[in-house]
Amino acid sequence: MPSPLRESGDQVVVAILGATGSVGTSTLEVARHLGERVRVEGMSAHRNLRELVELAREFRPAWIAATDDEAAERFRWPALPGTEVLRGESELVLRLADDASLTTVVAAMVGIAGLRSTLAALRAGKIVALANKETLVAAGPLVMEAARESGAVILPVDSEHNAIFQCLAACQGPKEVSRVILTASGGPFRDLPREAMNGVTPEQALAHPNWEMGQKISVDSATMMNKALEIVEARWLFDLSPDQIEVVVHPQSIVHSMVEFQDGCVIAQLSPPDMRLPIQHALLYPYRVPGPAERMDFARPFRLEFHPPDIGRFPALGLGYQVARRGGTAGSVLNAANEVAVHAFLENRIGFNDIVRVVGEVLAQHPFLAEPTIEEVIASDHRAREETGNWLA
Ligand code: NDP
Ligand code: MG
Repeated sequence: MPSPLRESGDQVVVAILGATGSVGTSTLEVARHLGERVRVEGMSAHRNLRELVELAREFRPAWIAATDDEAAERFRWPALPGTEVLRGESELVLRLADDASLTTVVAAMVGIAGLRSTLAALRAGKIVALANKETLVAAGPLVMEAARESGAVILPVDSEHNAIFQCLAACQGPKEVSRVILTASGGPFRDLPREAMNGVTPEQALAHPNWEMGQKISVDSATMMNKALEIVEARWLFDLSPDQIEVVVHPQSIVHSMVEFQDGCVIAQLSPPDMRLPIQHALLYPYRVPGPAERMDFARPFRLEFHPPDIGRFPALGLGYQVARRGGTAGSVLNAANEVAVHAFLENRIGFNDIVRVVGEVLAQHPFLAEPTIEEVIASDHRAREETGNWLA
């Protein structure tokens, strides 16, 4: 992975895409804490434009972007001296390609909606601190190729992948890696029998025991589809074979993931569950300074537990492996069907167990392309959304 990226003390000039979300908000907390070290040059939100304006007043970025065209047109924009307002995703994409002062783009939008702007940042050769895993799941090989071509660098923000990235520093190269072990909290239904999961409500699914996150990823954690997406994410990000990726349930969410090397040594990254740490790591890499994240407290006793996952109760994991093996358009189908199904569950239109059931059905019958172009990935995303909609109807 990347060589040192910055001179120590260089200012990080950052655009935060999805600034109003959970990861976006944590990124801004890190920026507040780091002061002069980080300058916020741009921010985007989708529809939550009041909050975007509040943030613009505080951080005084050169530009802000409202990615939902309609919301951008309808909104009464107040005067924001020194801040240009970009309307719609197209204007954002153009600015990412043009803004020479940007060093870093934090991709923290939710869902495949992040694909175009993430690709724009990569093609412009930026450092991309990537939280938006759906983009890698749907278009992993194309995203990695875009980075290789322009010399852009992807630094993972997803806590497991950030941990793996840090653990990999302990070896000389990919040949020395035997496997990676992704940890999973198991979510709010870790010990619930499968039949009992039938009746769970969106409120119960959103109540994650260890992390406070956006709605979509919270439901993904409850079905363990989040871990399935992360298997695919790890496959592309670190160029691993699916057989090298293992999942282990670790309820405390303190070990964020591990790498086992050829000699049998396992290196792990530990810290309390706090996204501000992987965010800061990706923002400042390869430098480390005191930040706002919580620290480990070894002055009191605590336990770390590890259990093998129960694929029978969490069939999403099986889909994750299947998609990581197939590649091609399988990732975009998995992701699109899941986005639609999660949305339907949050609106009480389907039950909890239906989410993974419908994703499996759509994946099984969708026509498969082994080496899609970006247009074909997007077309397969659209088609899978329709198919999921039909299945739900
Ligand atoms: P949130 O739902 O909290 O925030 C999503 C952000 O994306 C908001 O700023 C939202 O704007 C914006 N957004 C929503 N829809 C669109 C769209 N169609 N186009 C562009 N922007 C849009 O999500 P999270 O912060 O929880 O997650 C963001 C990403 O990070 C996801 O991919 C998730 O999987 C990943 N991630 C999150 C973690 C977490 O702890 N939350 C941990 C690891 C990964 P608005 O507010 O205006 O709607
Ligand atoms: Mg994660």
